[in-house]
This record gives sequence, structure tokens and C-alpha cells, in this order.
Amino acid sequence: MSLKSENGSLGVVKNQDTFFAVDLGGTGTAVALVSRDGKVLSQSRFATREFVLKDRPHVFGSEVARQLGQLLQGFQGEPPTHLGIGAPDGNFFSGEVLYAPNLAWRGAVPLVKILEDQTGLSVILDNDANAAALGEGLFGAGRGLSDFVAVTLGTGVGSGIVSSGNVLRGANGFGGELGHLTVVPGGRVCGCGGLGCLETYASVTALIRTVINGVLNKSSGSGDFDAALLERDPEAAGPILSASALAGNPLALGAYRLAGESLGNAFAQLTTLLAPECFILSGGMLAAGDLFLAPLRERFALNAARFHKPLPRIVLSGLGSGDAALLGAASLCFS
Ligand SMILES: [Zn+2]
Repeated sequence: MSLKSENGSLGVVKNQDTFFAVDLGGTGTAVALVSRDGKVLSQSRFATREFVLKDRPHVFGSEVARQLGQLLQGFQGEPPTHLGIGAPDGNFFSGEVLYAPNLAWRGAVPLVKILEDQTGLSVILDNDANAAALGEGLFGAGRGLSDFVAVTLGTGVGSGIVSSGNVLRGANGFGGELGHLTVVPGGRVCGCGGLGCLETYASVTALIRTVINGVLNKSSGSGDFDAALLERDPEAAGPILSASALAGNPLALGAYRLAGESLGNAFAQLTTLLAPECFILSGGMLAAGDLFLAPLRERFALNAARFHKPLPRIVLSGLGSGDAALLGAASLCFS
């Protein structure tokens, strides 16, 4: 099913003020009721891994339907008829989640069809990072800008590129995937099947990998970490690693430096290609503050082509955690 050919554009609903939005994340999924003027009216969350089950995608659909019903309890307005959802490897054109390496699903999952069947709503799907970029463009740090890149640094590296006022999706919906640019040829194995992708150096998962490597090599500071715990509980690992870096642990500091420099190199290449006005950052990697951002900015300034003066700004999302993705997902349904 091609949403684009059916609707012609993103704008499909002109006469409603409230929409459902879902942000399917690698660890948590948020379900929300969102107003057209960019307010998250109510929301709830559930653990993604409990409902995104291999070979059983309908389990996720029924949990979303159940939680949407709960959000409507006590809601006085007219119930929404449309749902926008951002998902890792979500494809705007096909309505499927395709070969998502960070989810338990395998192959092509027809998520739009599943959600439409189970909720009775009209559903529009996009890549989660594209949804976040839409949210930033309408309600966040990208407001009024025609060219920017929104980068979410969490379990993976998600990016949504807005170029000349349009989300860059490419011919097949997979355009704009900064996380899978090769930054180290022949480097770390990535879930996408490639080697040396940015995501394997500049995400929370990458930090864990760097620190576990350090523990195995008995690097300085490795005595502070339980490698098995980091591997077993990635959600808990992020705060542990940021706290360790802020406390001066050399292994954690080195992991953030590697991540920041890798991202800075990638931003320099992207600037050569796209000349954006700014990069908008969000996600768990930012918990270490300048321990991550300073090496990023240094490497970006060092490697960006000299004719890009002034350099694109690197700013932090002003929207609440996860709000950009929810607002952007809802905005897929706006007129
Ligand atoms: Zn990759």
C-alpha cells in the first residue's frame, strides 16, 4: 500500500484538532493524545520488548489499541480518527517496518495494516527519526528553518533530514540514515549488516561496546564496571556510563570521546553534502554533556570544509524527552 499515492502528500486531515501518536522505541514505546497546536495532552508507555515479539507483530497492535482506549477515558473532545506512528526502520511509502535490527521483529512487518485492523483508525507510519525531525520543524529548534538535521542519539543513531523544507526520504523511504554512514571502513559489525557504521561508534549501545572491550582488555578504569551487567541491561547501562564519565572514569570518558569524535566527523561530511543551518540533538547520549559535546564540536570544526563559514550550529532539542517524536508522529496526519 502506498500512502503517498493515496494521499498525495503528508497533509490528510483538515477538520480535526486531536490525533493519536505512537513513538515505537528500541526500549520503550510511548502512546499519546496530541493536539494540533503541539501539546501532548496525555500519554502512557510500555516496555517495547514485552510486546514486540518475533513472528507475533499483532501483539504490539493489540497493546497499542488497549492503551489508546485508556487515553480516551475522561477525554471530553471528539475522539481522533487518525494515528501517526514513528518506528525504527518504519517506511512511509510501504507502511511497513522493514528489517529493523534493533527490534525482535524479522523481515517486513505490515505495521500500518496491523494497527488499522486493530484500532479502526487511519494510520500513517514513518521512520522514528523522520517523525522527530517533523516535530522539531513544527514545534522545536527547527521552527522556521528550511534545512536542518535532527539526530536522536539513544540505543542507535536516528536522523531525520529536512532539506529545502522537505523531509528527505529518498526513492525508497530509507534516505537520510546517518547512523549507517561508514565512519571506520572494516570496523565494528552493525545490525544493518555493514561494518564500521556511525551507529556502532556514537550511540549508547556503542558506549557499552567500547567499555566492555576496555573491561576485556583490562584498560584503565575498567575495574569500575560489571561487563555482564552492562550487556544484560542496556537501559540501565546509559545512566551508569554517563555517571562514570562525569565522575572522571577514564574508560567511560574515552568512550564518550570516541562517540563525539565519530559524530563530529560525520557532521562534517554531512555539511559538505547538505549545508544545513543546524544539527538538532536529542537522546540519552547527551547525559554526559560536554564530555560528549566538546569532542564532537572540536572534530566537526576541524574537518568541516573551510567554505562553510559560519559552520552549521549544533543545538540541543528544546522539546521534552520523546516529545519531538510524538509531536512529529501526530503531525504526519496534519493538514
Ligand atoms: Zn549500519
